[in-house]
Amino acid sequence: MNTAQAPVPGVSTAAVAARVQATIRPDVRALKAYAVAKANGVIKLDAMENPYDLPEPVHAELAAALARVSLNRYPDGPGDSVKQALVRALALPDDVGLILGNGSDEILQMITTAVCGNDAVVLAPDPSFVMYRLNALYARARFVGVPLRDDFALDTRRMLAAIEREQPALTWIAYPNNPTGNLFPAAEVGRIIAAAPGLVVVDEAYFAFSEHSFLPQVLAYPNLVVVRTVSKIGMAGLRLGYAAAHPAWIAEFEKVRPPYNVNALTQAALPVLLAHEATLARQARDILAQRARLIAALARTQGVTTYPTQTNFVLVRVPDADRWFAALRVAGILVKNLHGAHPLLAQCLRITVGTAAENDRLLAAVSSLS
Ligand SMILES: *Cc1c(COP(=O)(O)O)cnc(C)c1O
Repeated sequence: MNTAQAPVPGVSTAAVAARVQATIRPDVRALKAYAVAKANGVIKLDAMENPYDLPEPVHAELAAALARVSLNRYPDGPGDSVKQALVRALALPDDVGLILGNGSDEILQMITTAVCGNDAVVLAPDPSFVMYRLNALYARARFVGVPLRDDFALDTRRMLAAIEREQPALTWIAYPNNPTGNLFPAAEVGRIIAAAPGLVVVDEAYFAFSEHSFLPQVLAYPNLVVVRTVSKIGMAGLRLGYAAAHPAWIAEFEKVRPPYNVNALTQAALPVLLAHEATLARQARDILAQRARLIAALARTQGVTTYPTQTNFVLVRVPDADRWFAALRVAGILVKNLHGAHPLLAQCLRITVGTAAENDRLLAAVSSLS
């Protein structure tokens, strides 16, 4: 940096604001940036993270693998060694295509970009993962949300009618669904895939906690993509997601993938972590046991309604979500307040399953509230 040069005074904030106003798309200006709650020193039960860190020997192995990375070089663009490790770990047949993303969030965006021109229709059950709607907005596609039933069950008849009426280019099914936690019946999802004129993406972010998957059937339909992520099983910081589909779909998605989207450190880390799959699986089993305990205790709590979940979080309805959220925050526990996000989610909180000790703290705080 040239420090010898005298700083040039900046223009006024008002002058910049006027140019922003005149330049940025109105629909983008009207958005709020995705707010990630700061969580210093609190029990973090808001973001579906695995609460367990990796054992020390795995950290050491990771450090050694990362130390060997040549950071002066761009990463392998397509990430072939990561794909090979995934193909082995998932026991995928050779004729399934894979694409990697900087988190599955990037995969979702790439698919939307590849499919949607102006005024294309993007369809999804509602409420579901917020990025389906946002990506549609970025692409200037028209988002059509098909309401779930009051108990968050899929309204298949309404979905099929909407598909017939709207002819969506892209249909999203979160399987299981976020933020409701339930798994839609496979036969009904199959009917939706069969009826949809465009592409259907089955988003399996919570596969480790549901064990139900469309991946084995991905080549049985002409219009199916399955998306997964390593975020919810203990690698949220890595930012790695992937999509599996017929290679003809993957070839098109490759055209909108930023050339070096998955960084070299992530690519070096993933095979090391997959080699310790047994550790991650043990953590997932513990989370499932904690989930059962959490649901049982919450279901016994006065005023709390719990909903079925096949994920690492529990959706609950409480008498006053804003008050409960604030009181939990004071008790040092951060959950997700969904009140106001969608009419069906009135008075709902989404609680990520934590460690046994974290769940103890949560249940103690909840019992003093109810
Ligand atoms: C968390 C989540 C994602 C995004 O995961 P990343 O890989 O961390 O970007 C995608 N879909 C659903 C349904 C999720 O809940």
